[in-house]
Amino acid sequence: MKYRNRVRSRISNLKDPRNPGLRRNVLSGAISAGLIAKMTAEEMASDELKELRNAMTQEAIREHQMAKTGGTTTDLFQCSKCKKKNCTYNQVQTRSADEPMTTFVLCNECGNRWKFC
Ligand SMILES: [Zn+2]
Repeated sequence: MKYRNRVRSRISNLKDPRNPGLRRNVLSGAISAGLIAKMTAEEMASDELKELRNAMTQEAIREHQMAKTGGTTTDLFQCSKCKKKNCTYNQVQTRSADEPMTTFVLCNECGNRWKFC
C-alpha cells in the first residue's frame, strides 16, 4: 500500500507541467527508472526551485562570510579571479605595533581571499 502511494506520487511528479526538466530527463534516459524510485522529493523538485534554493544558500553563505569578517566594503581592490571590484577588507595588526598592518581582502562576488602588507 505504501509502495503504491510512492509510485503514484512519482507519476504525478512526472506529469507536473511545471517540471518539464524532469520528464525530459526521464524520456531521454538521463534518469533511469531505477534511479527515479530512489529519488527524494527534493531531487524531484523542478529546476526552477533548485535554482531558487541554490541562490538562497549562496546568499546565506555570503551573509555568513560578511558577518564573520566584518570589514569595510570597497571598490579600491580588484579581484584577481573574477576581475570585479566588489570587495570587503580588514586591516589587522598581525605582529608588533611598529610593523605595518596586514590587509585582508575578501571578494564579495566569488569569495576569493587574499592579503597584502
Ligand atoms: Zn572575485
